[in-house]
Amino acid sequence: MCFGHIQFIQLPMSEKELWVSVLRRLQPTINKANFITWFQNTGVLSSGNGKMVVGLPTEYAKTWILSKYALKVLQAIQEIDAEVTEVNYEVSSKLNEEGNLVAVNVKTLFGAEEEKKVRKVRNINEITMTRGASGQKINSQMINGRYSLNNFIVGHENRLPHAACQAVSNAPGGIYNPLYIYGSVGLGKTHLIQAVGNQILKNFPDMVVKYITAEKFVSEVVEAIGKRHMKQFKDQYRNVDCFLIDDVQFFARKDSSQQEFFHTFNELYERNKQIILTSDRPPSELQEMDERLKSRFGMGMVTELLFPSFEARSAILHQKCREHGLILDPEVLDFIANNVHTSVRELEGVLKQVIAESQLFDRVTTIRSVAEIIKRMNKAQEIIGYDIEARTGKTLARDAMAVMGIVAEYFNVTVDQIIGKDRHKGVMLPRHISMYLIKNELSESYEKIGLEFGGRNHTTVMHACNKTADKLRKDLRLVRDINAIKREMGL
Ligand code: ADP
Ligand code: MG
Repeated sequence: MCFGHIQFIQLPMSEKELWVSVLRRLQPTINKANFITWFQNTGVLSSGNGKMVVGLPTEYAKTWILSKYALKVLQAIQEIDAEVTEVNYEVSSKLNEEGNLVAVNVKTLFGAEEEKKVRKVRNINEITMTRGASGQKINSQMINGRYSLNNFIVGHENRLPHAACQAVSNAPGGIYNPLYIYGSVGLGKTHLIQAVGNQILKNFPDMVVKYITAEKFVSEVVEAIGKRHMKQFKDQYRNVDCFLIDDVQFFARKDSSQQEFFHTFNELYERNKQIILTSDRPPSELQEMDERLKSRFGMGMVTELLFPSFEARSAILHQKCREHGLILDPEVLDFIANNVHTSVRELEGVLKQVIAESQLFDRVTTIRSVAEIIKRMNKAQEIIGYDIEARTGKTLARDAMAVMGIVAEYFNVTVDQIIGKDRHKGVMLPRHISMYLIKNELSESYEKIGLEFGGRNHTTVMHACNKTADKLRKDLRLVRDINAIKREMGL
């Protein structure tokens, strides 16, 4: 026995400590929202012999990390442990379970400093929006911090307005002044104009940004006239550096407001202050609007927002799912993208409805259920890629045996194996899925299902169903499998 020897043994860093150090290195190089989205509940599953297996809670995280951050992760690991030369990724939905000992809650990595910084930035926005650098009170509507130029999906239909917004954010009062963005309802005008406001405040924290809808401007003019506060009203705009006015078509027939706006516009423009306007139509088509205003609106850059292409619509849906931390079958998202032809707002509306229903009924969303939602929301529309009538006519798998048959075929096993006692993973999954589908789609009791499965206890069945339902919240692969099987079942 040699105590001296013991003294020199260095306690190795635990795998969790190591991963925390890696995350600490990565965190400053990745934007906070992305960092939280993709690295939350990740951890090291195993390591040794120069290899490391990193566990990720969802298939989505794996796809993203592999395509975007794999190199960064490897570099960060090697900075801590130079021996590691190979990093593999494995999906383990267990990481999302509460109390999992491997998973790291990345939110704890943002120390007090970071918290303070985030809060400070938010305060600056709020103060600048309402008070301005000089401290003078500005009566402005709030800008929604959710809208940014980064989370605006760019397709070829909106590349130009987006680029113009980017240019204006970098150099307000420059060549694109005024910037006039038009397009029909729900195509992202408010998103873009407010995103510019957010970006300008980020780039130039001392600037005063004022956002207001034309409707609110009109009501303020009316109020100022009534209370004889015209001077105070005008003073509000004196030290504005960037004036964002949304939906100027609303000025039609509001003569006094047009006049007031004309003066405000001129004053700001002459002092090279940035003006951004949005509208549902180009300046030349604005009705009952002072010609002088129309010509001023068109003096700088006029750009149109168009309805996004299928690819952009699909990208928007994927992004909204990420923002909400949700997993939906990509096929379902494409189906929605294919069937919404009016606006991005409607696209979001359908998605929200789909999410609400899937949470309410705790069911996997299928193309059939989405088709029904779309039909309900927009009765006249023909649905592409799905024939509801034909599907409804199709015989449904109505008994347990039929369901097991379809599941067995899908997984390439036999019905006997599904019913049997084998606990091999390859048959456990089809068994659990069969039980889950029989319970949820045929509404059979746990007891009855237990009997169908060779006299199993009802608690066993209940456990399998709950486990599957739980996995469905995290496992994209399983969502896809169940969707495909449901289609086979005529659902
Ligand atoms: P508008 O002001 O033109 O009526 P909004 O700006 O209110 O439309 O947009 C409606 C919704 O669609 C918003 O939630 C917005 O974030 C979203 N949206 C529109 N276009 C895009 C896009 N290209 N990328 C991401 N979200 C978008
Ligand atoms: Mg709007």
